[in-house]
Amino acid sequence: MYMMLVDTSRCISCRACQVACKMWHALPPEENDEPRTDLTSTTFTLVKETEGEVKRKLKKGTLPPVSVEENKMMRLFFKDQCRHCVAARCRLACRDALGKGNEAIVRERTGAIVIDKTKCVPATCVIKPWGTKYPCVERCPYHLPRLDPVSNVMRKCDFCYDRIGEIKDGSPRTTACADACPTGAIFFGTVNKVTAEAKARLIKVRKRYPDARLGGYVNSTRVRWILVGAHALYGLPTNIGGK
Ligand code: SF4
Ligand code: SF4
Ligand code: SF4
Repeated sequence: MYMMLVDTSRCISCRACQVACKMWHALPPEENDEPRTDLTSTTFTLVKETEGEVKRKLKKGTLPPVSVEENKMMRLFFKDQCRHCVAARCRLACRDALGKGNEAIVRERTGAIVIDKTKCVPATCVIKPWGTKYPCVERCPYHLPRLDPVSNVMRKCDFCYDRIGEIKDGSPRTTACADACPTGAIFFGTVNKVTAEAKARLIKVRKRYPDARLGGYVNSTRVRWILVGAHALYGLPTNIGGK
């Protein structure tokens, strides 16, 4: 099983991850120069930008340098996408609507929650007796699977499940977004590797940003974020995980 860590302290908002995601999935580029504010059926990942006052620790002076704390206005970047929840509500909703064994949303061998477009039938997919339409969207805490009006199926990040396990140039292949990130902000690997990396990075990041924390949930989301301060700084609810 695999996970992803997004270390926002390293993100420079270059958006190479967004471009790589679109290229790998043959998705159309954005239609105009207006910056997008949300994920869509053709934008599986989006780096959202905000500004906030962040507590920083830095060394000042030389004889010897002293450690001081200050609040500084900073641009903050949050790479949004599907969390690939362990108990994925979208999948359970799909099962309720289409029946066990017929669901269009499946957990793939890497842990990715993937939509099988040959089975996805949004036009007729309703949970009886409540008449809930688009149940996967309704039950996802982030309303994430998005309806593609062209193909008429739900779409979202698939954790690049079809790349994982392949070897390229002698190394195991990672997701398109992690591969493209020039700063190492996106770390993809097995659960054990990502958990260890998150722990080690958080210790390091806290030396610079004492309020840094992990977003996402232990054992319930396969995507986690290192945030340099409170969730609210990024305009996020405390619950950015999968419950
Ligand atoms: S974030 Fe939403 S779409 Fe993604 S796995 Fe969780 S419930 Fe499903
Ligand atoms: S994991 Fe793959 S599908 Fe998901 S955002 Fe990254 S590149 Fe896109
Ligand atoms: S590629 Fe890396 S640094 Fe660039 S926007 Fe994406 S996460 Fe941030």
